[in-house]
Amino acid sequence: MSGFILGIDLGTTNSLVGVVDSGFPILLADAAGERLTPSAVHVAADGTLTVGAAALRRRVLEPSRTITSVKRLIGHRAGEAGWEPPYDLKALGLTPVEVSAAILGHLKSVAESALEQEVTRAVITVPAFFNDAQRAATREAGERAGLTVERILSEPTAAALAYGLDKLEGRRRIAVYDLGGGTFDVSVLELREGVFEVLATAGDTRLGGDDLDRSLAVAIWKKAAPEGSPDWENLEMGKRVRLIEAAEGVKKTLSTQAVAPVELPFFLEAWSLAVEVTRAELDALARPWVEATRKHCLRALSDAGLKPAELDEVVLVGGSTRMPLVRERVAEWFGREPCTTQHPDEAIALGAVIQGGVLSGSLRQVLLLDVTPLSLGIETFGGLMNVIIPRNSTLPCKAGELFTNAVSGQASMLIRVLQGERELAKDNWELGRVEVPFTPGPKGSARVGVQFALNVDGLLEVLTRDTVTGVDTVLAIQRTAVDVNDEAVEKMIAESVEFALEDMSERQWTEAALKGRELIEAVKAALDQLGEAISTEESAALSALAEAVERELQATTHQVAALKAANQALDDATQELAVRLIEQAMEASLARRGLAD
Ligand code: ADP
Ligand code: MG
Repeated sequence: MSGFILGIDLGTTNSLVGVVDSGFPILLADAAGERLTPSAVHVAADGTLTVGAAALRRRVLEPSRTITSVKRLIGHRAGEAGWEPPYDLKALGLTPVEVSAAILGHLKSVAESALEQEVTRAVITVPAFFNDAQRAATREAGERAGLTVERILSEPTAAALAYGLDKLEGRRRIAVYDLGGGTFDVSVLELREGVFEVLATAGDTRLGGDDLDRSLAVAIWKKAAPEGSPDWENLEMGKRVRLIEAAEGVKKTLSTQAVAPVELPFFLEAWSLAVEVTRAELDALARPWVEATRKHCLRALSDAGLKPAELDEVVLVGGSTRMPLVRERVAEWFGREPCTTQHPDEAIALGAVIQGGVLSGSLRQVLLLDVTPLSLGIETFGGLMNVIIPRNSTLPCKAGELFTNAVSGQASMLIRVLQGERELAKDNWELGRVEVPFTPGPKGSARVGVQFALNVDGLLEVLTRDTVTGVDTVLAIQRTAVDVNDEAVEKMIAESVEFALEDMSERQWTEAALKGRELIEAVKAALDQLGEAISTEESAALSALAEAVERELQATTHQVAALKAANQALDDATQELAVRLIEQAMEASLARRGLAD
């Protein structure tokens, strides 16, 4: 068996494969001499799969049998999330993992033909912002294609490797801005003496050039459609696909020219479509789309604790960074001309190749320190998210916490493993759950340790232990990976910034409510205990304060400040009561002693 480890960029739009050969990282070409393989799979009626450019050629004829951008469906249930593909995977009898496996299998055979030997090991890249399930699904696709996946590597980290391999001396801090066909990633890294450390990463796994192609296609149709023709929604699928393909071509032309023609002969029977689109028209559509990447840039910088001026370079990769508007906006946000020395289509694959070379020992050692893009935690009392491993923690890492029972006599505890940035458990993504049994006892008597371990690929393993009995339960998150509801995580990614304040007040309310209920219980207990020893006025005053808290708890709109104030008033009153109780007890005991004397 060969010692080669392939480096693979499994892109939304295009994929590439390469290897370190005789000490040089190179990308491999297929029989047609192409290094870029479209990430497209055609499914024939008899189930035969065709991958790459050949699949794409069949798309206009059979759009519903040609699978593109399947990466957008990785880690989601078919048909569930926001992006609607022009095909029905289920009807074709395939899963996203199987389609990805077909693409990976094709790349494997391209490499084997070029190298004239069998190769079974690979490094595969994923968007930095892929969560646990999406990484696991990618690994599974590799295994199905007959590859041992030596490492799952984040795409911007790979791009940084390609950028930094000849700059191993000294120290520099860079941002990698990667805008491709389906995803956007931005990472801030520090490169020093052969160590590549990711300081922070952010992005959106559903933002890319594909979105722009579609909105441009709609705009072209609006502009060109003849009187009485169907509007976009009612246009048949094959025609829409033709328009989207034309829009992509126009978009690319407009990266270097001011005007681009669109010509689709015999688009509606005898009628041919012919219009011109200007760069200004495209820019108007593209502006909000580019602006959507800005908040991720700001977040990555602030997580890394850096100002734009403290960066040495902003490296652009991904096909969409060829657009002048993207370059112009990035230059403005970061206050410098971005670095465009890296090949936008090839840098990530090259980085994967380099990592493969390092792992196989054919390249000099560099050390990669990647981070986890999303926080991991479990649900605690009141439906709150309790973070165990915060986002942007360096991989691999381990962390644990001890939990106890909230209710007396409880015989088990449900641990819900969550990933995401929202304060409330329900807004985060549930990766899995495990029921931990323990010996029933009073409230607070159980001791359950929960340990999270993230490996170098960013995949999670959860260990729970009843520290009283020493019984361990290991939750293998990977297995639950592909079949999960993505909506929560999508919402979470998009909303974590916008909802930060709202989340905070909801969290504060939940905490205040817990405190309020505890106080009411305590007051009831104290009043019972005191009985005759407290005056009716005092008792009534305390009850009134307790009722005030109760009213806030029942209120339809949650008023954090009012609840806190009511809690405070009740707390103050019970403090006085406690002092009185202690004084009374002491007096009583003194009096008893006096009697005894
Ligand atoms: P992915 O990593 O998602 O596979 P790529 O980095 O290969 O994506 O980029 C593909 C995207 O780049 C597509 O949306 C494509 O239309 C866009 N693209 C490629 N070349 C150009 C260009 N010259 N101008 C504008 N966009 C381009
Ligand atoms: Mg890419």
